[in-house]
Amino acid sequence: MKSQDYIALDEKYGAHNYHPLPVVISWAEGCKVKDPEGKTYFDFLSAYSAVNQGHRHPKILKAVRDQLDQVTLTSRAFHNDKMGLFLKKLCEFTGFEMALPMNTGAEAVETALKCARRWGVEVKGVENGKQEIICVEENFHGRTIAIVSMSNDPDSYVNYGPYVPGFKRVPYNSAEAIEKAITPNTVAVIIEPIQGEAGVFVPDAGYLKAVREICTKNKVLFICDEIQTGFCRTGKRFAWQHENARPDIMCLGKALGGGIMPISAIVADYEVMKVFTPGTHGSTFGGNPLASAVGMAALEVLEEQKLDENAERLGKIFREEVAKIKCPKMKQVRGKGLLNAVVFEKGFEAWNVCIALRDAGLLAKQTHGNIIRFAPPLVITEAELREAIAIIKKVFEEIK
Ligand SMILES: *Cc1c(COP(=O)(O)O)cnc(C)c1O
Repeated sequence: MKSQDYIALDEKYGAHNYHPLPVVISWAEGCKVKDPEGKTYFDFLSAYSAVNQGHRHPKILKAVRDQLDQVTLTSRAFHNDKMGLFLKKLCEFTGFEMALPMNTGAEAVETALKCARRWGVEVKGVENGKQEIICVEENFHGRTIAIVSMSNDPDSYVNYGPYVPGFKRVPYNSAEAIEKAITPNTVAVIIEPIQGEAGVFVPDAGYLKAVREICTKNKVLFICDEIQTGFCRTGKRFAWQHENARPDIMCLGKALGGGIMPISAIVADYEVMKVFTPGTHGSTFGGNPLASAVGMAALEVLEEQKLDENAERLGKIFREEVAKIKCPKMKQVRGKGLLNAVVFEKGFEAWNVCIALRDAGLLAKQTHGNIIRFAPPLVITEAELREAIAIIKKVFEEIK
């Protein structure tokens, strides 16, 4: 079968809830992927940062293979011999006391919202049903009904009503707006430290720190959604560390699964996590032994290969070199570490640029029409990065 045949199958039998770039991937390793025709591409999306460790990392593959020969699923009705080791590693890696494992990012966010609502009643003393959570404009936290109730992106929320009440949305990048929106019933503020889906929007320096301080002052939980920004992507283990704005709850996903399987979690200290008691939350697959083995290996790779340092160093080179490209339609290069975006002028349709990049051997996806995100696996070398930048330069210079 050829690429066009696979695409035709997706079109015919798959719901049309995505508009993928017309390329089929049938093999991958490190920061490269191949199509069925044998053409090789740089992967500059990394499955939205779920492949920070690179495709098919040998250490993570070994962990999968070893665990397949032991036990893969037990449910939480019983203990297994991997989950505790995984959660210990996750707590040490993040610097939090406890973790609650789930599967997808959306589930981690749901878990954080439930945790905050319960904490609001049981610790803060808010009447049940009155809890308020502050979110921000242009957020992306996932696709469940509760989560899209926070969204102001019409694609995400239109015709999915009735929406879940209890959310108050304020502009991003304004700590003052958050402070004004707080009432005695506010239990939490949820933000992404850098807005990935919104087009890699980096807030002003000091924002995260100010939000942290406002939350502390008002006895409100600070929830950081690090699902896309976490695990070394922005040049630190977690993006909040750029300002030492430690949250009360951190939502994790994507790269926690090492590019192999969906693994997510929230981490928090005991004083917050204690609101969950037996039977009050759960997941059949959360913390399963296979996922735990993968998650542990995924964390070890980030640590051993110092992928935070690699992202920090190569990110600087990327922004510096791309900003030098002569392309009149290009307005801005922004980002942190290896989470970057090129913003073209308003109204510019970047889809055709992504097609041209594909033809030149690099896969990236546009967001919001005029923005292209560039986020390669963090195992990329400087030589590979410079090769990729040469492709981007060639394509950008030909933009009319
Ligand atoms: C991807 C993402 C999610 C949702 O994760 P899923 O695994 O797709 O449910 C939530 N928040 C952020 C910031 C994300 O980037």
